[in-house]
Parts: sequence; structure tokens; C-alpha cells
Amino acid sequence: MFKKFYPDYKFSRTADIPDSFFTDNNIRFAVLDIDNTLVPYTSPLPDEEARSFLQRLKSLGVKYCFVSNNDEERVKLFCDDLGESEYIAKAGKPFARKIKRAMWRMGAEKSNTVLIGDQVFTDVYGAKRAGILAVMVDPLEAKETPFFGLKRKMEKIVLKNYKPQ
Ligand SMILES: [Mg+2]
Repeated sequence: MFKKFYPDYKFSRTADIPDSFFTDNNIRFAVLDIDNTLVPYTSPLPDEEARSFLQRLKSLGVKYCFVSNNDEERVKLFCDDLGESEYIAKAGKPFARKIKRAMWRMGAEKSNTVLIGDQVFTDVYGAKRAGILAVMVDPLEAKETPFFGLKRKMEKIVLKNYKPQ
């Protein structure tokens, strides 16, 4: 019933995604969430862990595009610091339109693209709607607002019967 919310793979953090995930699944393109996936929600700039993950993607020949629901200011600041220009802000995930746009820009196919994010209802569901593989990581930082807490509770309910592979 909740299958459309199930990630294809789940890891604690991006550093734990093994190289073999990309090679075994023939992944050449990655759509990347930023907040709580690459850096904590409150960190405006990429840190060492984020940089080394992106460096690893490059060394594996995986092209990437940042696709964030956050606003232009946040996303641009993050990307400028990396010297990267491939990003889409205010992406409206889980709607697939901007995810597909990112894929089109990179020349990606459904079969060789992954979305990596920390949220079930935006990232995982968005990836499913776009027809691509979904990798979920644990959020780097829990945001303690009532709405966020409720969302996490709902994620737990939805993923109750989910078995990671
Ligand atoms: Mg996020």
C-alpha cells in the first residue's frame, strides 16, 4: 500500500553509499537533495563530508544536479561555494517536473539515474514519480518543529513494513 514511498536503498548517510551501489546499478547520473542530505539544514555551505561525497561521484563518473525545494538564495550560495552551476531551486518535489528537467539537462535516462534524499514524501516519492531509483539517507539534523515532527512520525508509519535490501 505504501510501496511508492519505499526507497530502493537506505543508508545512514551519503558517506555510507558504497561505490558498488553506483557501479552495480549502472548509475551515471544523480539528482541530489541538499538539506539534511548533503549538509545539515542549518549549514549554508558545503562541509568536508559533502565535498568528499561529490568528489567521489566525480571520480566514479557520476554527473549530478542539485534539486532542492529550498529557495534560490540558499541553493545558489551552496552551489557557488562549490563552483557548481547545475542546480534547481524551489523544485516542488515530490512533483516530478523539476526532477525530470534536471535529468534532461544532464542527458540522463531513467535507467541510469538515482535520486538521493532524506525525506519520504518529497525525495523518495518524487523519485518514484520520475521513474528513477530512490536512495534515502537519515536526515543529518532533526528539525524540532511540530510539523516536522509530525512528518517524521508519518514517515515511520509508512516505512513500518519496509525492509532494506
Ligand atoms: Mg532534504
